[in-house]
Amino acid sequence: MTEPQWLEAWPVEEGARRVDELFTSSFEGSPEGVWSAPGRVNLIGEHTDYNAGLCLPTALPHRTFIALRPREDDRVRLVSAQAEGVWEANLSEIAPGTGGWGAYVAGVAWALAEAGHKVGGFDAAVDSCVPFGAGLSSSAALEASVAVALDAVAGLGLAASDAGRTELVDATRRAENEIAGAPTGGLDQSASLRCREGHALLLDFRPGLSALESGVPVPFDLETAGLTLLVVDTKAEHSHVDGEYGARRAACEQAAKLLGLDSLREIAPALGGMGIDRALAELEPHDADGVLRRRVRHVVSETDRTARFANLVREGRAADVGPFMLASHVSLRDDYEVSCRELDLVVDTAMTAGALGARMTGGGFGGSAIALVNRADVDTVAQAVADAFADAGLTAPAFLLAPPSAPAA
Ligand code: ADP
Ligand code: MG
Repeated sequence: MTEPQWLEAWPVEEGARRVDELFTSSFEGSPEGVWSAPGRVNLIGEHTDYNAGLCLPTALPHRTFIALRPREDDRVRLVSAQAEGVWEANLSEIAPGTGGWGAYVAGVAWALAEAGHKVGGFDAAVDSCVPFGAGLSSSAALEASVAVALDAVAGLGLAASDAGRTELVDATRRAENEIAGAPTGGLDQSASLRCREGHALLLDFRPGLSALESGVPVPFDLETAGLTLLVVDTKAEHSHVDGEYGARRAACEQAAKLLGLDSLREIAPALGGMGIDRALAELEPHDADGVLRRRVRHVVSETDRTARFANLVREGRAADVGPFMLASHVSLRDDYEVSCRELDLVVDTAMTAGALGARMTGGGFGGSAIALVNRADVDTVAQAVADAFADAGLTAPAFLLAPPSAPAA
């Protein structure tokens, strides 16, 4: 028996104390305030954000904290409990290609300025209990904590409304895409800034939707249903992840182009589209190895599953979503080909040990998997997964509990 390792979320007071102390010991004086933002876990809807599709994240109780104080000049000075030394730059020097972890922070100030807001320099200290690179969006948690901090000290007032928060989503996404250079699709930043406690957030990435249409909170009451969402960080790291992500995006764009569509979402009959069967038939002559058709089948079926999953949750039938989670995993494994041995092992082991549903979450090739489990079975499932990893000679995974939690504040 291998003791499962649990990764506890810090109480807000603890996170605030940590960054306050880090700030005071790194810079002279005190911060103007402390802000924080959650990591996220996606219940279903994977690789759909950049295909104008649907996804359904919740915010984790695990958060990134930032203590920040504005400066008179345009200098940015940053420290993090998770990084060495002081990261420094002038805001005027921030541009695509700015390297290092500070790009995720200074990039947000850059993007807000690009959007016409007046944002000056600042000193800031960061600490986090969101694991890095685990597919739980430590990068978006960092960006979103910066966004609400700058919103407050610059008096922008955007964090006060959901519509304003969608503007902060745009800024954080530009920071990640253009300054940090990671071509992610917007799911992570939307989740960290717009999720609500006790809710999942049904995100619709069709262009041109209002804030109200693009993010609909869906009550997700696991407590009353006697359920727990268990997250397993596999600690698996695979090489070529960025290249594989880029290749998936390129395949989707190529398929949409061959079909004469702006995005694969437009295949949906509900939106006046041709439907999946005709789309696959039209792709066949251009797709000798079947790769394009497999990718398209995943993207289209995944948005459909996400809509059905959200409807069940809305009806208070969270205990019935398991089969959709499993179908999503199989589709990601076989059609989209982004799973890996560790993720499959979590899913298979959790299901055998009594989970109602399980799937990989996030981009894939490592990162985390989730399992929906009856509360009474949480320890049994975690133990089974820990043992399976030990038996297979793999690095011990970490376990997190994920009640749907509060957004950046
Ligand atoms: P994920 O978002 O899945 O955790 P990413 O690779 O997108 O993984 O983002 C991780 C990167 O974000 C880290 O390598 C680091 O550059 C930056 N980062 C996130 N949180 C922190 C933090 N608390 N302190 C410093 N850098 C951070
Ligand atoms: Mg990230």
